[in-house]
Amino acid sequence: MNPPSPPTEPLIQLDRVSKSYISGPLTVDVLHALTLTIWPGEFIAIMGASGSGKSTLMNLIGCLDRPTGGRLLLEGQEISGFERDQLAGLRRHLFGFIFQQYNLLPTATADENVEMPAMYAGLAKPERSRRARELLTSLGLGDRLHHRPSQLSGGQQQRVAIARALINGGRIILADEPTGALDSRGGREILAWLHRLNAAGHTIILITHDPAVAQEAKRVVTIADGRILSDNGTGSPPESPPEVRAPERKTVDKQVIDLTETVKIALHSLRANLFRTVLTLLGIIIGVGSVVAMLALGDGAKQEVLTRIQAMGTNLLLVRSGAANLRGSGGQPATLNTDDADEIALLPNVRRAVPELGGAITVRHGGNDTQTQATATTAEFPEARDWFPEKGIFFTASDVKSFAPVVVLGQTVAENLFDPDEDPIGQQLLIKNIPFQVIGIMSPKGATPYGSDMDDVVLIPLSTGSLRLFGQRFLRSINVEVENVDAIDDTQEEITTLLTTRHQMVDFQVRNMASLLDSANETQNTMTLLLGSIAAISLLVGGIGVMNIMLVSVSERTREIGIRMAVGARSGDIMTQFLVEALVVCLLGGILGVVAGLATALIAMQFGILAIFTPTPVVMAFGFAVATGLIFGFMPARKAAQLDPVVALADKG
Ligand code: ADP
Ligand code: MG
Repeated sequence: MNPPSPPTEPLIQLDRVSKSYISGPLTVDVLHALTLTIWPGEFIAIMGASGSGKSTLMNLIGCLDRPTGGRLLLEGQEISGFERDQLAGLRRHLFGFIFQQYNLLPTATADENVEMPAMYAGLAKPERSRRARELLTSLGLGDRLHHRPSQLSGGQQQRVAIARALINGGRIILADEPTGALDSRGGREILAWLHRLNAAGHTIILITHDPAVAQEAKRVVTIADGRILSDNGTGSPPESPPEVRAPERKTVDKQVIDLTETVKIALHSLRANLFRTVLTLLGIIIGVGSVVAMLALGDGAKQEVLTRIQAMGTNLLLVRSGAANLRGSGGQPATLNTDDADEIALLPNVRRAVPELGGAITVRHGGNDTQTQATATTAEFPEARDWFPEKGIFFTASDVKSFAPVVVLGQTVAENLFDPDEDPIGQQLLIKNIPFQVIGIMSPKGATPYGSDMDDVVLIPLSTGSLRLFGQRFLRSINVEVENVDAIDDTQEEITTLLTTRHQMVDFQVRNMASLLDSANETQNTMTLLLGSIAAISLLVGGIGVMNIMLVSVSERTREIGIRMAVGARSGDIMTQFLVEALVVCLLGGILGVVAGLATALIAMQFGILAIFTPTPVVMAFGFAVATGLIFGFMPARKAAQLDPVVALADKG
């Protein structure tokens, strides 16, 4: 094997490099046209008073910052045209940083800190774990692998930082006042390590204000006010160059998103701020939960309405007076009469045509009176409506013929007028001051699909109502029962033709259950949409909460971002990390929200409210949650990714 030959190309060349900061109207020139050549294998100290520009110089050499003038060459290559991520690549593979304040991530353990640069270099987890363990063990920290920085002494933390600087090779070690925060023994230990590394072929650049520390180096460059005062270097490669280190194993150096790792980091930092995370989650949970619950309950309400309408019978046609465009207006013109009903009853396929007229009335019994609706109709009403008396009897055709003053009460009216232990049958009551005899009480029917009480009614013979109560013979509606449901459309058309011929105009509507179902469907869909929108708004508010928290998180963790960038994280890595964090919150919130929503709907069911569970709202709400994470996480994540590494590192947070 040949002895290693001296290097022929400088490792680092600064050619009239200058750096100015613009602060407000002022331009501060910190470095003035520095020219410096550093060879592979050198151990060089850069010494100067505080404020002389040492750290600024180190940041330039370490590609954390860019010069404002002059050229910087690394291994002969000019780097001024490099993109952000190319500079990150250099930091990852060429450099290892050791800072005065260690700059370890406080929430990560020693081995996790050491592994970080290797993670960004795309090294697989088992391999980087192994390397981190080896390095920490060789630095005497084999029993401290899983300690957090706060559980380690200053000297130990600095050794963790050295291990981190070495994990990707660390050809150039940049140490900025590495002993500054340590006692003299700890300081000596770190310097001894730097010697060992230099002997192993690493190029060491040691920055210090302390001449005693600078003495450790073979070459000392003194700077003052951003200019080189002295340099005891020979300007040529070291005479007995240390053996050139075998290049580290080639790592996959493309941005590979280690999802498990990223999610782990995200969970880590979410756990670190548990209370805040819970509050953020709450926003998403409420949003997603209400979407899921509202839609389940909305579907349930719709189903209930449809079932009830169907229960009314699919063989019914309803003829109402008034043209369609007057629907719902209070004073509907009365246009149907009993002759119309009689004619309709004669049509083929019509079993019965039951006329109804009616209006609001007051009913009195003894000292009680109550406001209700009177429906005047024929004896066929119970069959047509499939609604029969529970007690007593319904009036007969002869009652109708003889204008009999008899009344059948709905349950609600019976309850309002009579004591529970009183039998209303046979009693007299007054309707508009006309005495009527109670002959029956209808079975309870409940509320209509639209919520009005169907039992709040009294039924009287059509003739009695038209002549004695309302003094008019126009009908409100005619309930038509057909024989054959399959021919109901034809019958509907025949009724329309018949009435149009009789009236010479369309001053009525014929509706079937299908059209009733349609309009009920429509009403319910509108309700569901309304509820859904309210829920979606709360999800939006939840999303804004996520964005807010993520922005806070980014500014609180600026230093962490700086550290990650210093060890070679690309913009995309930082972006991914924060995006995944937002996504994890929203996914977690989405899962819990779906559970909460389903639970709410289930509880509602315990109280007799129908809820229907379909996968669509769940999938939708979940999708919304993910989209919320991506959309509202994007801005904070981008803000993090675009931070300047030097500025981020200098953050005091
Ligand atoms: P040293 O590390 O030698 O103590 P620095 O390189 O940190 O010195 O700083 C050198 C000079 O540059 C100081 O006067 C400092 O105030 C100035 N300086 C450093 N960073 C900035 C900045 N971001 N903006 C303006 N001035 C800066
Ligand atoms: Mg400094």
